[in-house]
Amino acid sequence: MGVICAGLRRISLPGEALRGWYESEAMRLSDLARDTHVFSSKIALLRNELRFHLYDSRSCKHFLAERILGDLVSLLISPREDISRQIHDLSSKYTLKEISAGLVAYEELMRHLSRISKPPPPRRKITGWREVHLLTYGTLSCNLACRYCNSNHVRSLASAGNIPKIMPLETAMCVIDFGVENLADRTGRVFVYFSLGGEPLLSFKRYLLLWDYCNDVSQKTGVSVILNINTNGTVFTEEFIRHCEENNVWMAISIDGPKDIHDSMRPFRSGKGSYDTIVNNLSRILESKCVGLNSTTAAAVLTGINPYPKQVARHLIDLGFRRIAIKPVRDNTSKEWSLNAQTVEGFKEGYTEYAEWMLDCLIKEDDSIYSVLIGHDFFARYLVRLIQETKQAYRCEAGSGIFGIGIDGGLYP
Ligand code: SF4
Repeated sequence: MGVICAGLRRISLPGEALRGWYESEAMRLSDLARDTHVFSSKIALLRNELRFHLYDSRSCKHFLAERILGDLVSLLISPREDISRQIHDLSSKYTLKEISAGLVAYEELMRHLSRISKPPPPRRKITGWREVHLLTYGTLSCNLACRYCNSNHVRSLASAGNIPKIMPLETAMCVIDFGVENLADRTGRVFVYFSLGGEPLLSFKRYLLLWDYCNDVSQKTGVSVILNINTNGTVFTEEFIRHCEENNVWMAISIDGPKDIHDSMRPFRSGKGSYDTIVNNLSRILESKCVGLNSTTAAAVLTGINPYPKQVARHLIDLGFRRIAIKPVRDNTSKEWSLNAQTVEGFKEGYTEYAEWMLDCLIKEDDSIYSVLIGHDFFARYLVRLIQETKQAYRCEAGSGIFGIGIDGGLYP
């Protein structure tokens, strides 16, 4: 990864009268910009720093640049009709001499990039979904009372007797059969989760029955049914740890970051925070022969009360996780912790700080970034697509790569 400070070559040009010249230069250079793939990070601008991060997506190089150069990159990749106005705006921030020197530095940078850039790889063909995941409401029972839990509505339906509180075993087996018969991917796998709606480890014996059933079906049909577990991390019995050791179980654990943040949103039903219990269970996993935290996903929810993913990610990395998925909360916008008109600015600030931290990791060759650059992470999905130059035809995989199964066996996209 290259890091350069693009120095400004000072040249002497007199006065305001040359603004027309700058505009025609900018037009010429904007043509040059169209052949390159440079993005200028506005993060530095927001923080009022004197340097910019520039990223060239064709050569995958990062650069540190003087502020004028960063501003010019932003300007010259914008539509031509805006250039004249923006040159005018720039002249309120910089002297014309600085602008002309910046244009020279910009041209130097573009020529440098055209020498080191390779032609972009051909765009990948969209070949369809590689994996199919059946996300299933297994049980509505839970020992936590997370403030943003979106199962409360379903629980009230169950309390009114309209739906069962736990998925009947026969229904759960039908879900597995349905996946095997209809949804196995080209490598002969289907992924099943009985983790929506409540804590699956409260019904561990049932989970074991389904585990055995998946193995039976896999042996009979040749389709691998992979039973995954998403847990709140508070109910790890000796029996469960032994099961994980013997079967290399991979799981996702919900944890929202540092203790104060986590406990404020994910208390036990008694009101006590659940962080200490989870961290204690994490150390038991580390001491066991389970696959360990390297392969365990930490699933964090980001709320409007603390919308700072960098703080969450760094804490989870310190705990030992190497697969971290953070996503913004989904709840009624009237809630103070939701993503809504009052909190959106905080989320923007938090993700800006997060992106800046990622860039710093890249520049410093700090591997931490790979813990969050995973396809399940809300923000990383966009970055991975940008880096790989892939397109996504649909917003998500609902109905093609992911199916929801209600507690009564109903199938939803
Ligand atoms: S652990 Fe999951 S199901 Fe239980 S209260 Fe929290 S969000 Fe809801």
